[in-house]
Amino acid sequence: MAQIRLKNVSKRWTNFVGVDNFNLDIADQEFLVLLGPSGCGKTTTMRMIAGLEDVTEGEIWIGDRLVNKLEPKDRDISMVFQSYGLYPNMTVYENIRFPLKVRKVPQEQHHDRVMAASKMVELDDFLQRRPAALSGGQRQRVALARAIVREPNAFLMDEPLSNLDAKLRVSTRAQIKNLHHTLKRTTIYVTHDQIEAMTLADRVVVMSKGLIQQVGTPMEIYDRPANTFVASFIGSPAMNLIPGHMQDGVFTGDHIRVDGLSTQVNGPVTLGFRAEDAVMAGETGQIEAPIYTVELLGEATMISMRVAGELVSIKVAKDYRAEIGDVVRVNIAPAACHLFDQSTGQRIV
Ligand code: ATP
Repeated sequence: MAQIRLKNVSKRWTNFVGVDNFNLDIADQEFLVLLGPSGCGKTTTMRMIAGLEDVTEGEIWIGDRLVNKLEPKDRDISMVFQSYGLYPNMTVYENIRFPLKVRKVPQEQHHDRVMAASKMVELDDFLQRRPAALSGGQRQRVALARAIVREPNAFLMDEPLSNLDAKLRVSTRAQIKNLHHTLKRTTIYVTHDQIEAMTLADRVVVMSKGLIQQVGTPMEIYDRPANTFVASFIGSPAMNLIPGHMQDGVFTGDHIRVDGLSTQVNGPVTLGFRAEDAVMAGETGQIEAPIYTVELLGEATMISMRVAGELVSIKVAKDYRAEIGDVVRVNIAPAACHLFDQSTGQRIV
């Protein structure tokens, strides 16, 4: 069993807080993704769990052991990094076998375990090659096999796909998801890519400036972002966020008026809605503005307009025809609208 628990964990350097009072219980077998922009503290959090970075304050538990003072090698976890960290003068076979040697696993187990791990990542045809003779995707699979061969209780993965091209990233991502399904090991995965987070995670932790902004399933953070930071970080395109004024259930702003919102709040607010939750209107629309740009996506078309100073994206059918400058009218169902406090950014509705 490898539940991982972080209790009031902080990391401070002389005059900088990298991670600020991080609290989280990660369930056994869970796939947890730490997501956030560069510098938000996700790698530092992961390195503290791995034992590569001291904890300034708080406790880290793996299973029923407090591991704050344990060496990385004694924590029963395997790590996979963005730079594959392979030994260039060893073959693929020797690279995968290496952790077994270091940990003095009985010799007679080595061959079967190396073969099983390399099969899992479809590397069994490349075992005699050296890393220089492999593609980036193959190298990352060697790194995965080397992590798997140890049969650890948990995997820690730090941006393992970021050196791969777009196509390989998608296929290796699928492979990681499938491996998790097969191996059923607790996995903590760091990324700044919200699509990786959405596709891989059981739960996502969204971080900013060392602080947890929200913890939830991918759909929870997509459908009910806790604040404007999460709303603007999740989704492609991000949620439309429009500043305006709320009075008696009516939101108004430049080029926009939405009636029938169920809130008692009056005053300045930010209205949020997703591109796919808007529909083209007839004679009158809640939004009425000239098109700023039209982008063909293949399966749909994205149009954008300037509303209350913000660029707003609307997803329309792929055969929708419109030109830059055409005035369009758009409606948003009140139930698809989110309201955020304008000063704190926190969700109101
Ligand atoms: P990235 O995606 O760029 O790797 P990250 O979210 O993983 O970013 P961290 O590497 O965890 O971010 O860094 C968090 C913050 O802590 C950053 O602002 C970084 O500059 C700072 N930091 C990291 N190491 C040190 C250090 N040794 N001394 C001082 N500040 C540090």
